[in-house]
Amino acid sequence: MIWRVDVAVQTPAHSALGDLLSYASTVPPRIGALVRVPLGRREVLGVVWNVQEVQDTQGAPGSSGTGIELKPIAAVLDALDPLTDGWRDLVVFAAGYYQRSLGEIALAALPPSLRALTSTQLARRLKRQAKSAVQPSAESPELPALTDEQSVTLAAIESDPGPFLLFGSTGSGKTEVYLRSVAALLQRDPSAQALVMVPEINLTPQLESRFKERFTPLFGEGAVVSLHSGMTHPQRLASWLALHGGTARIALGTRMAVFASMPALRLIVVDEEHDPSYKQQEGARYSARDLAVWRGRRDGAKVVLGSATPSLESWNRSRPPGDPSQGGRYLRLAMPARIGAGALPRVHLVDMSLQPPKTVISGALLEAIGLRVARGEQSMVFLNRRGYAPVLACGDCGWKSECPHCSAYRVFHKIDRTLRCHHCGFTERVPRACPSCGNPDISPVGRGTERLEEHLGELFAGSLRPDGQPIRVARIDADSTRREGALESQLAAVHSGEVDVLVGTQMIAKGHDFRRITLVAALNPDGALFSSDFRAPERLFSLLMQSAGRAGRDAAYLARQNASAEMWIQTHHPRHPLFDALRRHDYPGFAEQELKERAAAGMPPFSHQALLRADARTQETAQGFLNAASAQATHIEGAERVNRYPAVPLSIQRVANVERAQMLLECDSRAALQRFLAGWQELLHELRRGPEGKGVLRWLIDVDPQTI
Ligand code: ADP
Ligand code: ZN
Ligand code: ZN
Repeated sequence: MIWRVDVAVQTPAHSALGDLLSYASTVPPRIGALVRVPLGRREVLGVVWNVQEVQDTQGAPGSSGTGIELKPIAAVLDALDPLTDGWRDLVVFAAGYYQRSLGEIALAALPPSLRALTSTQLARRLKRQAKSAVQPSAESPELPALTDEQSVTLAAIESDPGPFLLFGSTGSGKTEVYLRSVAALLQRDPSAQALVMVPEINLTPQLESRFKERFTPLFGEGAVVSLHSGMTHPQRLASWLALHGGTARIALGTRMAVFASMPALRLIVVDEEHDPSYKQQEGARYSARDLAVWRGRRDGAKVVLGSATPSLESWNRSRPPGDPSQGGRYLRLAMPARIGAGALPRVHLVDMSLQPPKTVISGALLEAIGLRVARGEQSMVFLNRRGYAPVLACGDCGWKSECPHCSAYRVFHKIDRTLRCHHCGFTERVPRACPSCGNPDISPVGRGTERLEEHLGELFAGSLRPDGQPIRVARIDADSTRREGALESQLAAVHSGEVDVLVGTQMIAKGHDFRRITLVAALNPDGALFSSDFRAPERLFSLLMQSAGRAGRDAAYLARQNASAEMWIQTHHPRHPLFDALRRHDYPGFAEQELKERAAAGMPPFSHQALLRADARTQETAQGFLNAASAQATHIEGAERVNRYPAVPLSIQRVANVERAQMLLECDSRAALQRFLAGWQELLHELRRGPEGKGVLRWLIDVDPQTI
């Protein structure tokens, strides 16, 4: 007897090969089993998708009965249980929705080390892992008494099917709610598993220890595992195997964790659900938040999305309890109060148009920071631009530090005296003199975190802390934390109180539970107010609310200090409605206003979008490809319903000598847009092979794009 086995393997994106490849086997492997199969001259990992008995008409082993010779499967990794139907359904859905091949999604979801292991090696690993499992200590950690808001929220999560949108202020105790929900579930059901997703785990090492401290005593060493791209391949494999085998009960991970194999998944938490990093920005551009909701429904797992500033999509999809008139599918649970009755910081707006020209930090803000540090409190200053200065320029001839490979300036980094392109990475030593006219006096224009740190250091050089020590200014951004372990030690210095003024990018705005910061300042947020990206105000509002949330987190500390928390914003537009809502900490008000504008303009969430992008050596080629794809699409199902805009260059149009263009697609129906995209794929492949595709390096479709 011969079986035809259809296997998902990683074929190159947009390859001509179909989604599944067929192989022959004399014993039928189980659906979902991992196998090794020949592909070209290599042997690759694959997942069994279909198995079908075939007539062996020619009587020869390996014959498919259709006249095509099937190669046999090389090996079945039978030490592992097959992947579940639920997992495979998730892969099928994601592949269809985001317009990628099934094999690409399936294989990207598996840990890379699996590709190299034989069945015997796997079996050995699994045995070792089972032995190392440690029993719980039975001694439960002491837990804080829940606030009323937390209790009500937990009860709702227990009794309602969800999905839930947990709308809780920064510092309202959302994380504690997640911990308790997970604990309740796992104690009730001894096999159940929970998935907790966070935007960027390495930014919040605190969270990982908080989960381990809580759950190791209850469920044993190894009950909590992490899954994120900062882990080594062996670490990822160990986590994956533990979850797949059910020995690990809780996965704490970033967006990639949404594809974890968790056969007994019963609860999914998506913390900071509004965070843009849930959207993958390369390869299959999936939204882990949206897939989490889909997976929850498919697997019968409860889904909790949490945020102080929910995405407008989720907000629009949610309804307050007891108000079915608002039609959202998600149940909205609100926790407005901060733990310990701490007040949210008071917002001060500084009108920069009234300041002397070239003011970096207004006098009033400087004085406020000075007051804080003199009392031993900490301040935090944001500037969303790293490096010393965004441009280096010659005053004589007008030369600027452009990147030769990109349509962007190279950033001046004073620390190692380099000019670095933040887009292609091209780095050079700073020239001694202007490369164009020889003027030795070239100077930095504008300001990044490095220069701000230096500036603040100078301003506070003469000041002392209450303990007589000099004021310490520190900086945390992508540059300062490049070294392994650097972020942890820098955060520790903030937590321990060594640092008085912390300068940083949005990296420090999110998630950190700083206890002694009482003042937060955003120096230059105006750019986002008038951006061409319609999501820019939403992101700015959320970033500023998050930043404000870093101040005054410890109500008892504020009381001891007899202080209140402050948020300072320097802007040229102090009367902008966004700041008005921010001053009132009024997310619902902001959301209502934004949603009204989006509805009037027919933008998401009231319409659905996709981008078609093309890269080529010339902008003309890239745009030509896109416009041809649009012009020739008229016969495709749904084409008349999909609004296709003309091709335009990306805002940074050239990166590493590649010209980039995109075309926006908009449709009032998600289903119609999906049908159209599915039909369009074939045309795009064809075009790429024809004259319009000549010189096109690549194209891709981004469904529900987050940046336009
Ligand atoms: P969020 O996730 O909403 O920002 P957290 O869950 O981090 O808030 O809570 C903020 C702080 O309050 C943390 O230090 C946490 O340990 C503490 N906390 C949370 N719940 C309680 C509670 N019920 N009683 C006392 N402290 C709490
Ligand atoms: Zn010059
Ligand atoms: Zn560059």
